[in-house]
Amino acid sequence: MSGRGDALKRFRYAAGLFAPVYLLALYLLRERFPGGVPFLLSIAIGPLVAAYFLVSYFLDRKRDDRVPDFLPLLAWGAAAAMEIHAFVPPVARTGVVPAALFFGLAMKFPPILSIPAILCSDAWLAAVPGPIGKEIFYTSAMALVAGGVGIAVRRGHRKGGPEVNGVQEAVARSRALVLPWEDSGTDGIPASGAMTEESSLLRREEELKDGIRQALDRLSGLTGASHVAYIARSASPGSVLHEGFLLSRGSPVFREISLPDTYVPVREATVFRKPFLEVGPGARRYAPWKSGPGSAPSGVAAVPVFREGVVEGVLLAVRDEEGPWRDPVIPAMELAGHFVGRDIERMRELHQGDRYFLRGEWYHEMVRKMAEVGTEADPEPGGGARSRREMVYAETAEQVRRQVDADRVLLVESGEDPGNGRVAWALSPEGDGPGTEGCEPLGNSYVGWVIRTGTQRIFPGAAGPPRSQGVLPGSWEREGERSFLVLPVEGRVGFRGALVCAHPQEKRFRKHHAEIARDITRVMQLGLSHVERLESLTKKATTDGLTGLSNRKAFLERLAVDLARLDGRHPCGVVMLDIDHFKGINDTYGHPFGDEVLRGVASVLGKGVRKGDAAGRYGGEEFVLYLHMADTERAREGAERFRRMIRQIRFAHAGKEIAVTASFGVACAPHHGKGVEELLNHADEALYLSKRRGRDRVTVYPG
Ligand code: GH3
Ligand code: MG
Ligand code: MG
Repeated sequence: MSGRGDALKRFRYAAGLFAPVYLLALYLLRERFPGGVPFLLSIAIGPLVAAYFLVSYFLDRKRDDRVPDFLPLLAWGAAAAMEIHAFVPPVARTGVVPAALFFGLAMKFPPILSIPAILCSDAWLAAVPGPIGKEIFYTSAMALVAGGVGIAVRRGHRKGGPEVNGVQEAVARSRALVLPWEDSGTDGIPASGAMTEESSLLRREEELKDGIRQALDRLSGLTGASHVAYIARSASPGSVLHEGFLLSRGSPVFREISLPDTYVPVREATVFRKPFLEVGPGARRYAPWKSGPGSAPSGVAAVPVFREGVVEGVLLAVRDEEGPWRDPVIPAMELAGHFVGRDIERMRELHQGDRYFLRGEWYHEMVRKMAEVGTEADPEPGGGARSRREMVYAETAEQVRRQVDADRVLLVESGEDPGNGRVAWALSPEGDGPGTEGCEPLGNSYVGWVIRTGTQRIFPGAAGPPRSQGVLPGSWEREGERSFLVLPVEGRVGFRGALVCAHPQEKRFRKHHAEIARDITRVMQLGLSHVERLESLTKKATTDGLTGLSNRKAFLERLAVDLARLDGRHPCGVVMLDIDHFKGINDTYGHPFGDEVLRGVASVLGKGVRKGDAAGRYGGEEFVLYLHMADTERAREGAERFRRMIRQIRFAHAGKEIAVTASFGVACAPHHGKGVEELLNHADEALYLSKRRGRDRVTVYPG
């Protein structure tokens, strides 16, 4: 098998070399026998040979034929393409063939070779007389431009390197090694704590290297291999090289190596997830490098290293000594691979732990802030309009934006009906604030699904099902957002719903982002539990237990604040009312029924006040109303309205319907007084007059 493979390879290279000769012959033939049968036959040869190579590359299932041999393919592809180009004028006129060819050439070779290659081919093109005529100049120009672009692109590829400093390069490498499943192409490290995260990665890389070195040491002894290497699967998708470490027997030095992704044993392990073993003369074909020890091996073996079912890298063993590989190489390597995979896993966990540790400072700061929200002290001494709850939302969203590097953060609160939700808080580059008041149907958006199922989702943003279904309900969507992280937020207290991070770039969010965001939402829940406790305490302190209206103290405070704000420039009415003959109700029907009457009257008052107005229980069966911007007439009308409403209430007692009435007294600022006490006294005086005049009536001060 190996002999055949060698012959095939040699033939292929020879055939590749003949491609230019073939082109020349074709040109001469065309001159001699225009349109003749030999000429037509010769035209057919180019595509036929190219087709043969294609078929043999892609269909031959033999191991060494899986990886296309680029050079002959290129040479014959060029021959076939040039043929079409030279003999089909419409194609020639477009100039597309040389353009594509030279672009490919320039990409493949270093510039120093590409330029002469392009110039030579160009000269040849220019020398061809005949059907193409003067178009040749246009074509040449195209080729030159394409070649130039190819070189520029190649250069651009190469760059990135020199501009990046050594540390960044090392960090990128560590990422590839310690976190091989991460794109090394991400924008890297968040601004906060950049140095410490770098050092964490570097430290873990060193530890991982140590672990791998030990594994290789053991492997070398176990298998009797001359060289053993661990090759990390290249993390960046575009990379053509896998990098790793090589340990050679008898050499104490642990070297870094790189292998092309076309190297068959590595490819077998990474792409086909299979062990690779070749012993005997055939193993020479799989020499990992061209010269020195290991370049003429008698055995080559490779196994994939898995972590959670994903190929992280490859263990490679190369034997120089002649003679068979007696030991069970593959099982030994698979065992070593298991340990290396475990090492990687452990390093990942340690690095994750480092991140938590690094997270410490801001995290603790946030916890402290959330605890402060729960204290009685004014959370915003500047007198900001944000409620404590909103401050918790704002801090949460801001931390998520910073730590997860999201472009937009939404706190979606689930409605009573879990199919509905509202944006409780939104943070975007334009600013932050609460969303709409009311709930909207979440429809079959993924946010709704996440809330219903309690499962987190990361949408990388590549074309796929999420786009058609919508991560967010239509009206919340934003043009250009590609990646989403949607995290359910649950809790017996605080917030129930989902946290959404969005970013216009694809693949922005990863698992560890979700972990950070989850930790942040936990602190948010802590803050919200404080807020809720405070809210309930405040509520208890300011409302009347029986009726649910403001109590006397809260009402007076409110009245004082409003009067101060109006400052005598605008009117406002104060109404006092007292239920008539309430003692008799208590006496006749019992205290519990009296309470029911109080609740009924309070409910009418509470529901009947307009926005900006307030109702309170002043004491016993006395209530107060505050009518914002109401002058004397308006206040009288308001009081009248309430008087009629109270009269109409029917209380049921032992099958009987009982009605009550109340007497009202009205005083208005600023005419009847400017201070709280003055106004209330005057309203009380008017109320007394109402009682005196027969009850169930309204009297405006001074009567
Ligand atoms: P008037 O028309 O002159 O106001 O007659 P009145 O009987 O309502 O007069 P008064 O103010 O003397 O009676 C108030 C009664 O309200 C006394 C008290 O027993 C009763 N009361 C006060 N607070 C409560 C309460 O919380 N529940 C009940 N059931 N009764 C209360
Ligand atoms: Mg009374
Ligand atoms: Mg009374």
